[in-house]
Amino acid sequence: MARKDAIKKLRGILLERRRALVQALAGDKSRLNEMSKNATGDVIDFALDTAKDEIFSKLAEAESRELAHIEYALEKMKEGSYGKCEACNCNIPLARLQALPYATLCVSCKRKVEQGIISPQANGDWSRVSDTTPIDESRLGDFDPNFS
Ligand SMILES: [Zn+2]
Repeated sequence: MARKDAIKKLRGILLERRRALVQALAGDKSRLNEMSKNATGDVIDFALDTAKDEIFSKLAEAESRELAHIEYALEKMKEGSYGKCEACNCNIPLARLQALPYATLCVSCKRKVEQGIISPQANGDWSRVSDTTPIDESRLGDFDPNFS
């Protein structure tokens, strides 16, 4: 399968995952509200409220973070920079993208980041747009930056 087609397929997977996450976030909220509505007694209320807030904020945090990763990947697909390592600018192998569709670093750069050898460029700062990264035309290979 051409890289371009594989990325198109990944885009479908990401869109599907995004929809599921948005639904899950909305569902968590209403389920937890339901829980607190049925609770009786001050002590239970208090315990439940605390647990509820904790559960919800943890869930929401994880889901929101994944959602942000997905949005970022979709944005990169739009501008044609998806699948390129943000540190060394190589094409991230398809196998890695298929395992982790919103990977922004190749395995060796990821390892360097974990070891503190290089600092992550985009991780943790989703407001930064990747168009400051120069695109090396010779490395584009069979990747078509114009697909939508
Ligand atoms: Zn790299």
